[in-house]
Amino acid sequence: MTDLAERIEGRTAPHLVTPPPGPRAREHVRFDHRYTSPSLPRAYPLVPVRGEGSTVEDIDGNLYLDFCAGIAVSSTGYAHPRITAAIERQARELIHFSASDFYLPAYAELAAELDRIAPFAGPARSFLTNSGTEAVEAAIKLARFVSRRQYVVSFLGAFHGRSYGSVSLTASKAKYHAGFGPLLPGVSHVPYGSAGLDELEQRIFKKLVPAEEVAAIFVEPIQGEGGYIVPDDDFLPRLRELCDRHGILLVADEIQSGAGRTGRMWAIEHWGVQPDILLTAKGIASGMPLGAMVARTELMTWQAGHHGSTFGGNPVSCVAALETIRLLEEGLMDNATARGEQALSGLGQLRDEHPHLVSAVRGKGLMVGVELASGELAEAVQWLAFRRGLLVLEAGESVVRMSPPLVVTEQEVDTAVRIFGDALAEAARDPQAAIDQAKAAGAVDDVHVGG
Ligand code: PLP
Repeated sequence: MTDLAERIEGRTAPHLVTPPPGPRAREHVRFDHRYTSPSLPRAYPLVPVRGEGSTVEDIDGNLYLDFCAGIAVSSTGYAHPRITAAIERQARELIHFSASDFYLPAYAELAAELDRIAPFAGPARSFLTNSGTEAVEAAIKLARFVSRRQYVVSFLGAFHGRSYGSVSLTASKAKYHAGFGPLLPGVSHVPYGSAGLDELEQRIFKKLVPAEEVAAIFVEPIQGEGGYIVPDDDFLPRLRELCDRHGILLVADEIQSGAGRTGRMWAIEHWGVQPDILLTAKGIASGMPLGAMVARTELMTWQAGHHGSTFGGNPVSCVAALETIRLLEEGLMDNATARGEQALSGLGQLRDEHPHLVSAVRGKGLMVGVELASGELAEAVQWLAFRRGLLVLEAGESVVRMSPPLVVTEQEVDTAVRIFGDALAEAARDPQAAIDQAKAAGAVDDVHVGG
């Protein structure tokens, strides 16, 4: 049993010993602000030090119910005994050896597993990375290389990362581009959904970029940072058909929506669509840094030296991913479906009770978004939920997202919905007071997060 497990026995999160942020958290935030890059977006002053299941303990000893999972990452919960055992075992044996220059067993074993679970009819090969953005970069390079076409397309509201290629595809907030131009040339953005496909065919391909020069279209099957937006049912099948007609590669960015979060291994499977390249990161290794670009084998025409990485596919991360995939298949995906339905129905009741505050509740599995009447209200609810010991995160313009660990229990979902309702009721009374409080307590000015 971990230290936290011993301490939380008999106590259920949330359990607050001091109103958050407590004195040690406030002190730590001051220390942090002196030394860390001010570019870090910081949602609110949570200072986590330990976790167990869906519970996170902060530096003051407060226990929170975590419905953001480190931005949709800690898929198997904190300190899952099988994940920590796999990590410990591998760390004792070999922490690092570059898989780019040598043959690391765990790297190929994980690539074989990704081939088995990839949403392609045929075989797949993988390039492993340390993060989501690197997987996106790898896909841009491979798509251009294999097609010898230079243009790429993505959707308004998309978040694909922050390095130069991926941030050029990102279109969820102008701030992500501000002051950084020129970005990657040859990127077009169209609205997310079927209207965007009409725009591509009728405007972009006719007036701006010939379809036969487009290498790839990048899509999040459910938009994450853009506000947990589930597209209409005809969108992804139509997108597949459009790509086939023009010989364009379809890249599914499943960095947030994948790894079992929506109740299927990959969200795109809900629509029966097969991409050409699949990107994963975040939850795939339960919090160890790992990403993957998984491509149909016939696309992997690049040669030795065309792409590589010193750390990508680190063996400790690979064994964590192998164990994560086992746990997902042994029951966590089913739990994501059941708990997701429970959350949607509980939050749906809140929407029925407060139609002027909650405009939509949507999602699949444990990727659940609550669209509120305004951005201020979403900001206030996020803050007030934190004050009550529930961790949630804003997304889009006025959405609060819930992406708990996939081990979350029925009781925890009920608790989260209840606290969310209380936070909503308080925020509705005076959203400005809640925001002022958040700022006074050390939450940064811009409480929107990017991830
Ligand atoms: N793509 C999607 C859909 C994401 O949600 C994110 C991160 O939030 C990324 C890419 C970038 O991943 P990372 O932050 O690991 O670089």
